Amino acid sequence: MERDIKKLISQMTLEEKASLCSGLDLWHLKGVERLGIPSIMVSDGPHGLRKQNAEHIELKTSVPATCFPTAVGLASSWNRELVEKVGAAIGEECQAEGVSVLLGPGANIKRSPLCGRNFEYFSEDPYLSSEMAASHIKGVQSQGVGTSLKHFAANNQEHRRMSVDAVIDERTLREIYLASFEGAVKKGKPWTVMCSYNRVNGEYASENKYLLTDILRDEWGFDGVVVSDWGAVNERVKALEAGLDLEMPSSFGIRDQQIVQAVKEGKLSEEVLDRAVERILNLIFKAVDGRKENATYDKEAHHQLAREVARECMVLLKNEDKILPLKRQGTIAVIGEFARKPRYQGGGSSHVNPTKLDDIYEEIKKSAGNSVNVLYAKGYSLDKDEVDEGLLEEAKQVAMNADVAVIFAGLPEHYESEGYDRQHMRMPESHCALIEGVAEVQPNVVVVLSNGSPVEMPWIDKVKGLLEAYLGGQALGGAIADLLFGDANPSGRLAETFPKKLSDNPSYLNFPGEGDRVEYREGIFVGYRYYDKKGIEPLFPFGYGLSYTTFEYSDLNISKKEILDTETVTVSVKVKNTGDRAGKEVVQLYVRDVESSVIRPEKELKGFEKVELQPGEEKVVTFELDKRAFAYYNVDIKDWHVESGEFEIMIGKSSRDIVLKDRIFVRSTVAVKKPVHRNTLVGELLLDPVLAPVFKEFLTKAGQGSPMFSATQDQDAMLMAMMKYTPLRALVNFGGGKFTEEMLDGLIQKLNEKLNQQ
Ligand code: BGC
Repeated sequence: MERDIKKLISQMTLEEKASLCSGLDLWHLKGVERLGIPSIMVSDGPHGLRKQNAEHIELKTSVPATCFPTAVGLASSWNRELVEKVGAAIGEECQAEGVSVLLGPGANIKRSPLCGRNFEYFSEDPYLSSEMAASHIKGVQSQGVGTSLKHFAANNQEHRRMSVDAVIDERTLREIYLASFEGAVKKGKPWTVMCSYNRVNGEYASENKYLLTDILRDEWGFDGVVVSDWGAVNERVKALEAGLDLEMPSSFGIRDQQIVQAVKEGKLSEEVLDRAVERILNLIFKAVDGRKENATYDKEAHHQLAREVARECMVLLKNEDKILPLKRQGTIAVIGEFARKPRYQGGGSSHVNPTKLDDIYEEIKKSAGNSVNVLYAKGYSLDKDEVDEGLLEEAKQVAMNADVAVIFAGLPEHYESEGYDRQHMRMPESHCALIEGVAEVQPNVVVVLSNGSPVEMPWIDKVKGLLEAYLGGQALGGAIADLLFGDANPSGRLAETFPKKLSDNPSYLNFPGEGDRVEYREGIFVGYRYYDKKGIEPLFPFGYGLSYTTFEYSDLNISKKEILDTETVTVSVKVKNTGDRAGKEVVQLYVRDVESSVIRPEKELKGFEKVELQPGEEKVVTFELDKRAFAYYNVDIKDWHVESGEFEIMIGKSSRDIVLKDRIFVRSTVAVKKPVHRNTLVGELLLDPVLAPVFKEFLTKAGQGSPMFSATQDQDAMLMAMMKYTPLRALVNFGGGKFTEEMLDGLIQKLNEKLNQQ
């Protein structure tokens, strides 16, 4: 419906306008009754709806909703359509509950495996993370419900999250931490973006104009509402000026008053306030227009979808002697309390009250059928981390009498949550002892892990099978049974690296920082970018995951061998299912700059597609690459920049299993003009195709008689080696008195003139 928002604003009092800029309570925006502006409701997600009463802050008392796998699992599916489907289902549930904006998804990068909220984030890789976030947003918003892409930006730890200053160099911020949001904003077009609690390079995210306005709006074209994380506002007026429209939750009128006063005292332009009000009104009416009265949803269908999704989110990490899929015969010992009390989601504001919850043991029994004897032993108690000798002994007895033991282990709920980080990467002693103990008496052990982030696995060599189930949502039991018995083919791939030990992680020395300051000293080398560059063998690499079938790749084709950086190129590759089962494969495309003047990763993910193939079937998978696939962020020109040269295009089954590669030449259309000055290095000039001849000619003319300046062609290489890192001003010292300060000035002028003619 067309509305004249500007006219509406002109009818509002200053007080009414200020009042719209903060929440009514925990979950509602304010309305203005006399002008027909309604109050709308927002609620947490992101992997399900957490709708609470206005007064409720207690986390586990929300209306029942479908609990889907958390973001770490969703990202491991590498399946955009599937994530969009999840978003759409959550959107439907929001409609049924009258919720206008879902507070998610989260696109923060997993800098350390220890971050307490890693389960709520997608990946260590900005491309994968932003693609997943964009799909989630598209899905939810397809139902006329908004999203809130969060937590913008650099909220990569929970320790001191409301005050810590994340100190990050510009290139790293752009290439890693912001890139994860950038794609999601541009492709997903979220209705709102939620600023984070922390500071970024000295400034609170809530009042960071560089982030909230210069980058988010002016560069990326975001036109929605910026909302604060709950309680993230530091100074209200400064925040409003920086681009933060809506403060949540309510400040009980206190900060609205500050806005009113600032306008009255002439300290805040009313236009700034009007701008925020306009955006908030646009949001409110978008929600009104999107509302579907009397909407309902099919709980059972959503549970089934949660099962289908969970199957694709789980990653098969080890399958020695093809222990999986399990045969439907003999005796299977199901061990570990997680099999009865599953760990299926994380703690904190994302906690969903599920419509129903699978009992994994029961699902396995159901799926196994009558011909299989399924036993159970608790193995450990979730009430404590220490080994319970009695339970361990009992589990060993049960395992001994079975053909195979399936152990359910991982991280108990209190290990991972919003609000704090883990202190180490270990599983509880009782879980590790159980795996080792059972492996002593039973050669056929499969471990199924439930955790939101990588763990150390000292027992890995003692087990034959390993399924990373992550936090699989309410239908995880059915999904695990489907995968264990081979009714579904595992197709998840890791969206993060599992290091062998915590100290291998790039952020190890600088996480979670000192006091209120955390420096991201590893720079752009986050996740596989670091392990690759340093040649560190991970436990399981980024992109890794096994399957019950096999795939072969062939016919890598790059549509053009040379392009300008303004052009796009199409890459295609043939993938064939060479096994005897249907299955899905994740085709990953990485790019490497063969030679570069700046340090760059060994490879970066720039494309991926998930394909489903029947046995013997083959399909051609295509990717379209543009400038960003080859560019790095050049801080001198403050833009994405491609250096002319060769780039390797790699097709991989994981970041460490490249099966095909070829090269392309990309030519830059951007001349990086760096003005010449007294301290410009001689080497830089000699390498510049335009400036080198001018420079050489000048020196030859000026330097008659001085050996330094009359180098012959043959001597160029020597001259280059000697003079490479010499600043121009030093020519006065090395010129035998023939090169004066005036000549230096003349040379600099001439070179800059030449530069500007380009
Ligand atoms: C969390 C957000 C959440 C909000 C509302 C904050 O503490 O950081 O992710 O959306 O609370 O519950």
